[in-house]
Amino acid sequence: MSRPIRAVVSTSALHNNVALARAQAGAAGLWAVVKAHGYGHGLLWVAQNLAAHTDGYALLELEEAYALRRVGLNHPILLLEGFFAARDLPHFVELGLTPVLHNEAQLRALEESTLTQPLPVYVKVNTGMNRLGFLPARALEVVQRLARLPQVASITLMSHFAEADDVRGIEPAYGRFQQFHQAVQGQLGRALPRSLANSATLLRYPQIVGGAGSWGRPGIVLYGASPFPHWFDAKTLGLQPVMTLSSQLIAVQHLAPGERVGYGGLFTAPEAMRIGIVACGYGDGYPRHAPTGTPIAVAGKRTRTLGRVSMDMLMVDLTPVPEADVGAPVVLWGGSGSAYVPADEVAHSAGTIAYELFCALAPRVPVTVA
Ligand SMILES: *Cc1c(COP(=O)(O)O)cnc(C)c1O
Repeated sequence: MSRPIRAVVSTSALHNNVALARAQAGAAGLWAVVKAHGYGHGLLWVAQNLAAHTDGYALLELEEAYALRRVGLNHPILLLEGFFAARDLPHFVELGLTPVLHNEAQLRALEESTLTQPLPVYVKVNTGMNRLGFLPARALEVVQRLARLPQVASITLMSHFAEADDVRGIEPAYGRFQQFHQAVQGQLGRALPRSLANSATLLRYPQIVGGAGSWGRPGIVLYGASPFPHWFDAKTLGLQPVMTLSSQLIAVQHLAPGERVGYGGLFTAPEAMRIGIVACGYGDGYPRHAPTGTPIAVAGKRTRTLGRVSMDMLMVDLTPVPEADVGAPVVLWGGSGSAYVPADEVAHSAGTIAYELFCALAPRVPVTVA
């Protein structure tokens, strides 16, 4: 019998979530964001199971684009950081990829290239994130240069909002984008399609996604976590967890009052207690920073973790589940019914976000399909 930890991924949950994103996007297309190995869920499994439900895929590496083409997925693919060197460009042509252009070096490389086929390109506009992209004042000239290039098949204007999931929302960034969009329209005499909406924007501001020809870029909602868990939990939004991280109790201990638990003795039993030892630790991707009290389900009931997470194990309070013994099922996150533990809650307890939990799933955890 192998170690009992596994991540089970649910096709029906993935389909539920993409349908929700699709409904929000209206007539716009959908790039399913599958970067970081499909947010830890498995690139090929995610991509193949979204094939009939998405218009394209967004990711970062040429190697991953090749992997999708190798399994016969012919959808458009958006490379979110574009190309990293001019020598990558022939691969973009060969695979039919869409680069995001965000800096002058890329622009120049494209201008100096001779391609056997023109590429569709995205121009990234920096509307205030100050990470990637051309400032609106410069971007107009960039678009004019691209519009003249025989290497360019089509231009889409793209931006990414830093606070779509927070109090400030998309302003003033969206205002800057709108101004830029109109300036481009004035110069070219036609409106260009846009791509603005990550999960938070898609759910909160569906009116700005753009119509047919424009594209949304949902990531986290596809996997069933909330883009703004501080306001709405995943269930309230109609999302279902795609990944369930589960394991089992591999030992039970009886503590006398005053006894301490785990490395550093961070938890002290206030009274006689039964505790369970779960085969899951930070070596599996469970956050070491999750403190005592982090939610977890044992034998279908919610309880809490105790003490410090170690590499291969963590401890749980069995007070609410006196019947649980070695072999009892444990849900670390995901699950359903009385064993539902939202990844957002575990992440919040550990001072992070569900994105990081999913991406951190360790390669030693077997992934199986429900
Ligand atoms: C990762 C990413 C997304 C998806 O973001 P979510 O919050 O997961 O929806 C969209 N656009 C860009 C540019 C990204 O890097």
